[in-house]
This record gives sequence, C-alpha cells and structure tokens, in this order.
Amino acid sequence: MLAPTPQPTPRVLIRTAAAPSTKEAAIREAAQLLVAAGCIDPAYEASMLRREGVANTYLGHGVVIPHGMVDDRHLVRESGLAVLQVPGGVAWHDGQDAHLVVAIAAQSDTHITVLRRLTRLIQDEARLAQLRITGNAGDIAAALAEDAAAPGTAGPAADLAHRFEWVVDYPTGLHARPASAWVEAARGSAARIQVRHGAEVADARNLIALLQLGLRAGDAAVISAEGEDAPAALARVKATVTGLSAGEKAAAERAAEAAARASAPVAGWNPADPARAIPGIGASPGIAIGPIHVLGSTEVAVPDEPEPLTSGGDRLHAALEATAAQLRALADDTGRRLGQADAGIFKAQGDLIADTDLITLACQLMVEGHGVAFAWHQAVERMAGQLSALGNPVLAARAADLRDVGRRVLAQIDPALQAGHALPEEPCILVAPDLAPSDTAGLDPARVLGLATAQGGPTSHTAILARTLGIPSVVAAGPGLMALPTGATAILDGTTGRLYVNPSEVDLAAAAAWRECLRATQAAEALERGLPARTRDGHALAVGANVNTPDQVPFALSQGAEGVGLMRTEFLFLERGDTPDEDDQYATYRAMLEALDGRPLIVRALDIGGDKQVPHLALPKEENPFLGVRGARLLLRRPDLMEPQLRALYRAARDCLPADAPSGKDAPLSIMFPMITSVPEVMALRRACDRIRAEIGAPEVPIGIMIEVPAAAIQADALAAHCDFFSIGTNDLTQYALAIDRQNTDLAPEADSLHPAVLRLVRMTCAGAARHGRFVGVCGGIAGDPFGAGLLAGLGVHELSMTPRDLPAVKARLRASTLADLRAQAEEACAQADAAAVRALDRQESRP
Ligand code: PEP
Ligand code: MG
Repeated sequence: MLAPTPQPTPRVLIRTAAAPSTKEAAIREAAQLLVAAGCIDPAYEASMLRREGVANTYLGHGVVIPHGMVDDRHLVRESGLAVLQVPGGVAWHDGQDAHLVVAIAAQSDTHITVLRRLTRLIQDEARLAQLRITGNAGDIAAALAEDAAAPGTAGPAADLAHRFEWVVDYPTGLHARPASAWVEAARGSAARIQVRHGAEVADARNLIALLQLGLRAGDAAVISAEGEDAPAALARVKATVTGLSAGEKAAAERAAEAAARASAPVAGWNPADPARAIPGIGASPGIAIGPIHVLGSTEVAVPDEPEPLTSGGDRLHAALEATAAQLRALADDTGRRLGQADAGIFKAQGDLIADTDLITLACQLMVEGHGVAFAWHQAVERMAGQLSALGNPVLAARAADLRDVGRRVLAQIDPALQAGHALPEEPCILVAPDLAPSDTAGLDPARVLGLATAQGGPTSHTAILARTLGIPSVVAAGPGLMALPTGATAILDGTTGRLYVNPSEVDLAAAAAWRECLRATQAAEALERGLPARTRDGHALAVGANVNTPDQVPFALSQGAEGVGLMRTEFLFLERGDTPDEDDQYATYRAMLEALDGRPLIVRALDIGGDKQVPHLALPKEENPFLGVRGARLLLRRPDLMEPQLRALYRAARDCLPADAPSGKDAPLSIMFPMITSVPEVMALRRACDRIRAEIGAPEVPIGIMIEVPAAAIQADALAAHCDFFSIGTNDLTQYALAIDRQNTDLAPEADSLHPAVLRLVRMTCAGAARHGRFVGVCGGIAGDPFGAGLLAGLGVHELSMTPRDLPAVKARLRASTLADLRAQAEEACAQADAAAVRALDRQESRP
C-alpha cells in the first residue's frame, strides 16, 4: 500500500507491509519509490547500493537509512524519503534485521532534519515497535514529521494544549545552569513540552535549543505541553522555572557586589580604569603583565579516519557514556567541595553532550562517511559556532563549555586526541578552572608569569605552591574567567587579587612602574635578609622555610632561612606515579640534611587526604575527605606507608648525626605528625617511632605534632605532655575552626587566618605548650604575611616557617617592631569582632 506524505518537504513515500527478501531488494524497492516520485535519477539506485558496500547504514533498533554517495548528490532531483515498513524484518548487517528502511534522497542538509527525527524516534522503543506493525502509513508519516517546530526549521510556532506564560525574571536571562534545570524537569515526564519565544520554539528537553532561544530578562516565553500527564508535567516544569528566580536574582546581586568590590580602590596599585577588574582573591603577591593563556584551549588536529557506522556508533556511544560518568563524578565532587552552584557547571555540561541535535549531527556526519572522532569534533564545532554567532555573551560562554566538554568526549574516543596542557613558547599568565597541586608544582616560573584560577582558595595547596614558586596568583576569580580569549594582554595583581584584561597603555605603564617599585622594596628588604629576626627590644624569633626538596634549600637559605620548618613529604608521592620506597626516601631526607649542613630540618610525616589525593594509592573515596582518614589517621591505619617513612627518617638521623653531637636530641632532624586530634594518637605514633628507632639503632630525635584542628589547640596542654614541640598549621586550623573548606571559592574571602577565633586558638596553643616548656612554631601561610607574623610573635610563637620568598619582608617587619608592641597588638587583635577588624589594625603603610 502506497500512501502520499502529509508533509511535502521532504517528500515522504511510505510502503507498509513490505517483504523484501534481501537487503539489496529492500534498497532497490525503496529507490524505485523515489524514482517513481521523481525525487531521484534512476542512477541513484546504484549509488545507494555502492554506499552500502562501503558503510553500514544500520542506525539502530531496526531502523536503517540507505542513501547514495556524497559525490552522486547531483542525481537527487528533489529531497525525499522512501520508507519501507518490513514487519517480518530483512537481514541487514551483522545479524541485525531492518524493520523500517528509510531511504534518504537529500539535497543540501535536509537529511539532518530526518536524522534528528529518527534519532528521537529510536529513543522511543514502544513507538518504534508500534510503527513496525501499524497498517496505517499515516502513523509513520506523523512520526517522521514531528519536531518540525525546532528552531531554525520552518512551520508555524503553535503552542501545545496546556500552557503558561512567563516573563523571564532571571537577571542574566536563561543561561546554561537554569536551562539545565528546566531540561531535567522536562525529562522527568513522558509529555511533550516546548518553550516558545516569539516565532521560535524549542523542545524543553534540549539544552542547546533552549539556549538558542536567547531568552533575556524581560522576554515573554510560553511554555506548553501535551500528551501523557501533560498538566502535571507542566506544573513540575513551572515550579522549576519560577523556583529558580530567587536564586538567579541572588546570584546576580552577588556578581554585582563582586563587580562593585572590583571597582573599589584597594590598598596597593589601582588602575586608572578599575571597572575592567576581574576580582578574585590574592593568593601569591606581585604583579604579572603578559598575554593570557587559557588552559584547555589548545587546538587538536582531528584526523578523518572513516570506519563502519556500527562500530563508530558504538565508540561514540561508549565515549559519551564515559564522559557523562566523568561529569557526574566531577559534579558530585564539586558539589561536596564547593556547593551545588558550582556543581551545576558540570551538570549543564552533561546536558550539552546528551543533546540529541548534537548527537544526530555527529551521526549524520558519520553516515556521510566521516570517522567518528572527526564527525564528533565537526558537530561540536558547528554547534559551538552557531552559539557564538548569536552575538550573546552568555551563549558565547556556553560555546566555550560545549568545546570543553567536546574535548572530553574526544579524549574518550581516542586518548591520543587529548588536548595537551602545552604552554606557549612566550611567557604567559596562565588561566585555568583550577589546578591540582601536582600540576602547580610542575609550573616553570620562567614561562608562567602569573596564575589565575576560577576556583580555589588562598590557603589551598595550589595557592601555597604558587607562593613557593614566586608566581603572582589570583584564585576564586569565577567561571567567567574561562571565557577570556587566549592571547589577550592582562595585568595580574596577586597582592590585591585582581586581573585586568586588555588594559589601556596608561595602565600598562603604571602597572609596570608599580612592579618596579615592588622590586625595589624587595631589594631593600633583601639586603637585610641575612640578619636575625630580632625585634628592637631584643627578642629573637627562629625563622625557617617551607621547602619540599633538597634542590630548593639553597634558595631558601639565600632568602635568610635558618632551617626548614616544614618539609611536606606527601609531595614525594604526589609528583610521581608510584610510591617511593624506603631507600628512595632515605636518599631524599639525607640530601635535605646535607643541603642544610647542620641547620634544623622538620620533616612532616605523610599528610595524604583532603585535597592531596595520590591516585596510585587508590585510597577509598570519601564523602568528606577533609574530615576523613587524613594525615595521622591514615598513617595509623596504613603501616605499609608509615613504617618505611619512619625507617628512612631514622636511618637518615643515624647516618647524619654530627660527630660532636652529645646526643640524638641535638640531631638537626625532627619528625612531625600532621592532623593530630587526640592524645592516644600521639602515644601510638610515639610507640611506632620508638620501636623503629630501636630496630635501626638510631638516636632519639624530637617528635612534634601539628596543631591544625581546634580540638588539638584546646587540648594543647594535654598533648604537650607527650611530644617535644608543636607547629601550628594555620591553613587547616582556619578551615576547621571556621568550617570553611580551604578550597571553597564562594567562601574564600572569609577563610582568613587572621580571624580572631583562629588567633585565640593560637594563643591557647602557646599557653598549653608553655605549661610543659614546649617550643611552638607556625608553618601555615599566615606566618609569611608580615603583619600576621608580628601578631603570631606577639601571641607567644617561637618560630615562623614560610615560603622562602616571604622571608625578607617578614624579617624586615619583625626587626622594625618591639615585642611589647606586638604583644599589645596581638591582644587587641584577639578582642576584635572579625578578620577585617584585625586587618584594620595593620597601621603600616602598604608597601612600597
Ligand atoms: C597547614 O595546615 O597550615 C599546614 C602547614 O599544612 P598543609 O598546608 O600542608 O595542610
Ligand atoms: Mg595542614
């Protein structure tokens, strides 16, 4: 039975109850329908058969799409489809039977529309099953005609049966995060739901189509539904649409506040045009000027390597699934660490790759004979190009998201296509979403002038490493950072936490002059860096450096360090792909001692966990890693990690004991344990040390603990009875006292170690230690802040250990003060209401 199509473009010819005996017979029969309708030249039939010889056109679920060779397109006279319904099936490819043979004669890109419809149909198995057996050709014609109202396709923009109108009250319009929540709400039902803006209509399940509507604040939209359970489905979507308004308004207010903060004058360098500033948090001081390089923007050349449609389709499917799983894990992790708002970025990216238009376009390119990686890359580039072309900055940022997620899929299709993190030859300001500590550790300061990250916090390990490397850095500058163009000139001010893109010539000159002033001040401080950190009234503080490897020691000494107050040994594990064995570790500790030539060295036992994850240890994933099996807790549970480290340390202590040292307690080496929360932990660790020391025949060395948890500060007197010294880790103490994840971008401005609560915990620690005559150091970031260092001295701390570059300024500040003044100022600081009030006590003129 032959039925005319209800829709002339493209023409659709349908034959139900067909029974071709072979694939070739099916193709010929379908081709003849097209010939008879005048859609193709008879020669196109041979072209369709040839095509089948080079590519399998089985699309999935019993649907096949035979079509001719690209070069024979001139044989198509009019776009058309011929559909053979084969209820009994016909063998097609590799044991798969075809039940709907959709022969495509396509001029220009009409086949994209057809494929999009087929792709949607394929997802609806029940409907497909019905189409295989229906005696009514109209059912098939209707299924193929659906979706005619997608944006960019012709047809009247009619609303569906149930509807509501809504005026967009999201201040920044319908951007990806809320749109993705709409998609999620719409996908939860079987009803058809669409959104109309003027004459344009988008399927509410389709993120890109929704974004392409370009809805801005004040635009009127009509959201309508029909089909199964439509009123309830529409009510759910309405609840989502309107429920997001308050959050969107609050987000816009926060952004406006941030913008106001960005244009407010700061202590330090201020440009003539402050409106250009992108505000973040200063994480490593100094000015960098240069071209920005957005990490991940590296172009990859994607070769076109055609392969059979079925295996190509399988590979694309597997890559999309793996990427979706990766994005879910990222969203989970980000949600836990930074909150749901940031997790939404990855959820929205997940929706982008589930977009049927995108997948259809990729399939269509594969059907045309292109390789899977090439087809995917092209599809992403075309869609991203369309989004960018709309001239809307919000959509341009989504294009960046689409390209970003597209690269993830590419890397899954073929790991060789992974966009490298290669840096340009020219020194640059690196812009990244965030960097893992191990990535930051590998940065070369000669090539990376400055670092700006969208996420992160000032006490995160990434920020600490940037300080160590002396790379001016801004963290927590927000996701908008990633839409910046690679190559644009920028000024990065790591002291005030601002990035200025495309500054004026006047600002460039002023920033360069300020950078020179900073250098001059640093040079003046550097002249006195070798002098002791003795206050004007004669109180001497010990000053050490936080250094992780022997090769960093000479620089630390050159900056005025008297020893190493913190060696973070987890970096021996983080920077390599395997676990260093006892001998490897021994060699490193020995080299450290030798480099220090008798000066003190405090080695901290492994502090793994929190943000310092070591993939090759395959530790169990934790819901809250900062509150989990971290530091000493891990050491006590994993003797296989702790014991080789302690053996290596005691061997180094034994072999490096100075010949004239009367006892091991005079050995330059001390061992320190991280993340202590209780007396029994310290006792258990001491027992392990004593046993291993006895086995090795090593001298006793001082055993200290880090005070990083409020419980340890409060119980300092009890802990002091069981150890030889304390070192306060103010980075963690701040995070645990204030209940602010040290990597949380939103809360980064509040995670200030000068909060009076943190200072009072330091005061308590010093008092507890004093009862047992114990020595107290501080090795957290605030020890390297000249004003913070003064307060710590005033609170009773004996030693300050910091990144080497901070030493000259801290020493200069201490040498300019008296202990009596510092004590008074510290007491005043503890009595303040908040960190801002404490910082306001800093009366010294801002440098230079
Ligand atoms: C601290 O917490 O202050 C500290 C020095 O340890 P880390 O930064 O390595 O956690
Ligand atoms: Mg710590």
